[in-house]
Amino acid sequence: MPGFEIFSDEERKEVNDVIQTGVLFRYGFDHARDGHWKAKTFEKEFSQRIGSKYCYLCSSGTAALTIALASCGIGAGDEVIVPPFTFIATIEAVLNLGAVPVFSEIDDTLCLDPYALSNAITDRTRAVLPVHMCGSMAKIDLIKNFCDKKGLKLIEDACQSIGGSFKGKSLGCFGNMGCFSFDPVKTITCGEGGAVVTDDENLYRIADSYADHGHDHIGDDRGKETHPILGSNYRISELNAAVGLAQLRKLNEILIKQKSHKRVLKEALNNCPHISFREIPDPEGDSATFLSFFLPDEQTARKAIERLNQEGVDGCFYWYDNNWHYFRQWDHLKKLSFAARPPIMLLDNPPDYAKVSLAQSDKVIGRTISMLIKLAWNNEDIELRGEKMVRVFNSL
Ligand SMILES: *Cc1c(COP(=O)(O)O)cnc(C)c1O
Repeated sequence: MPGFEIFSDEERKEVNDVIQTGVLFRYGFDHARDGHWKAKTFEKEFSQRIGSKYCYLCSSGTAALTIALASCGIGAGDEVIVPPFTFIATIEAVLNLGAVPVFSEIDDTLCLDPYALSNAITDRTRAVLPVHMCGSMAKIDLIKNFCDKKGLKLIEDACQSIGGSFKGKSLGCFGNMGCFSFDPVKTITCGEGGAVVTDDENLYRIADSYADHGHDHIGDDRGKETHPILGSNYRISELNAAVGLAQLRKLNEILIKQKSHKRVLKEALNNCPHISFREIPDPEGDSATFLSFFLPDEQTARKAIERLNQEGVDGCFYWYDNNWHYFRQWDHLKKLSFAARPPIMLLDNPPDYAKVSLAQSDKVIGRTISMLIKLAWNNEDIELRGEKMVRVFNSL
């Protein structure tokens, strides 16, 4: 997740354009902005890049998820099937709309297991929200089939898999809507930012209004616009959009580098004892931001992460103990610790997350270690890293 590694003159130029005009707002001021429309331009170029008809650039990935869920009509009491391995933002977005996250197991893809979904479905299920974690994809074709068959909305969280694809189609383009994040540590960054994409004009119109207090964005006088719905403010500033625009134009270069680094590293580890690699349904479409691998069991995984740290192999994550990416450590969710009484407390049977058991997912994440692929590595760095890792795995 390295966009920030390569800030340069391109980002500075785009930001300067905005500072020069003084128009930091993404709408209106047509004359003063001197032809600079950073958010609008980003939306056009991002749509083209990933092959979606519409894109709305917003203030964060969390905002994108909120906008997508609301636009798809997900609200009070509606159940949304989610994975226990994600960033907590996915779950917060569902809860803050008054909807109910229902956890379903993940498989060796580190994403929702399509074959487990039917266990999570009830007569209140309205949507499935798979998360393409750590740069690679869920079995999105099977998940989409399931949603189509059951008449459920499909919303993809592709925040960590910008530029990834499955069988030639970009991740985020399989569902009714797809969500992206451009926060400071994502593959490309706006500083803070996110996007929703869709091929459905009606969903796009709702998203476009909902993200800006219901404005219809018709005509050239903001004060005279009508407001078909109430919304909120999930707008991005032109400054953030400007950074993102420069970054977007570097996406292909980033992906090529990540894939190359990952390929070399994976080859170095090929004959290592004890490890196997995460299942990737379409290796061609891997965005390669992470290398994720399995140890035989939890105990060996713990030993491995400890020795990797000792050897100075940085950027390794053992998610099972991590308190913001895996369900096991989400004590605030299990206690329903909110700033104020959440809408789900009004339900007849509010969920009790402390009682949720996810044995299959525990088994997967307990054995998983992920390593960040960095753009800055040179051949020597990768070789040395490979050697250290081989040493660690041989010692287990
Ligand atoms: C980063 C991330 C988000 C949220 O994005 P923000 O821009 O930080 O709000 C949501 N889901 C996943 C899987 C993420 O990694």
